[in-house]
Amino acid sequence: MVERENEVLGKGPAFEFVESALAVNDRIRKLDPKDNELFDIVIVSRNHAQAAVRLINSINHYGLCLERITLAGGADPTTYLGAWKADLFLSPDEDDVRSAIKAGFPAAVVYKYNGEDLPNDQLRIVFDGDAVLFSDEAERVYQQRGFPAFVENERQKAGMPLDEGPLRKFASRIAAIQEKFHTKEVPCPIRTYILTARSGASAGKRAILTLREWGLKIDECTFNAGASKAAMLKAIKPHLFFDDSPSHIDAALEENIPAARVLYGIKDEKVEAKPAEKGKKRGRERLVESDGAKGTLKEHFPVKKTKS
Ligand SMILES: [Mg+2]
Repeated sequence: MVERENEVLGKGPAFEFVESALAVNDRIRKLDPKDNELFDIVIVSRNHAQAAVRLINSINHYGLCLERITLAGGADPTTYLGAWKADLFLSPDEDDVRSAIKAGFPAAVVYKYNGEDLPNDQLRIVFDGDAVLFSDEAERVYQQRGFPAFVENERQKAGMPLDEGPLRKFASRIAAIQEKFHTKEVPCPIRTYILTARSGASAGKRAILTLREWGLKIDECTFNAGASKAAMLKAIKPHLFFDDSPSHIDAALEENIPAARVLYGIKDEKVEAKPAEKGKKRGRERLVESDGAKGTLKEHFPVKKTKS
């Protein structure tokens, strides 16, 4: 361990997302040096305490301002999410993500990708709608009763807000940071998107009325009406794309889009019911290989923002 301390760890799947969030912090400090409501990013890991030297060397090598670290010495690192008041836990380790969810924290699996052509002046986050920002109520109707029942359900409930999904709170934290820039009428370094498989005319209204009911501002929305999300993601160039659907995640990874699978709802129940299918698809298989590679940054990145 000690002999490799000066060997820099490789970039992990959440690296660009974290780096861009830290750049937003710099912009917030320029806006108001006294503002303490920043992206508060904590590294938690199963690693031994002595591994901190190599980790800190690597953090400094990349010029990242990451001061909060827990190395749990082989213990479950999600034990400490409550102490850190995490709003979101990201990890390439699906078992750890499930532990975090069991402990009551929104969490997603992040996957290795090879793309590097990401905007460096703006943090871009894409959220799926159903079973990510919203509950899986409508998704459940679609999966269990088919598309016509889904359309009829949405028509009948068009004026009824959907329940909150696992990333609703995190999205609100992001919107609160954006508001600092909007209030001072300066360009915002964060852009948010909702990219949903919902159709616009038949099922789009309920999604937007739900956001309006919550007072949650999302900058852009796309109703993809079942088309592949990959082409739109290539155009957006997000630092992270959150979706609950394994097929959408695989399509994103095929295009080297950084993607995080939110383990929640009826689609995840299907994945859990078929353990042999886990990581079977090419993109997700590639992640497992690359995460196990020598020198890859394996630490977990729970991302949270301090309470407003
Ligand atoms: Mg979904």
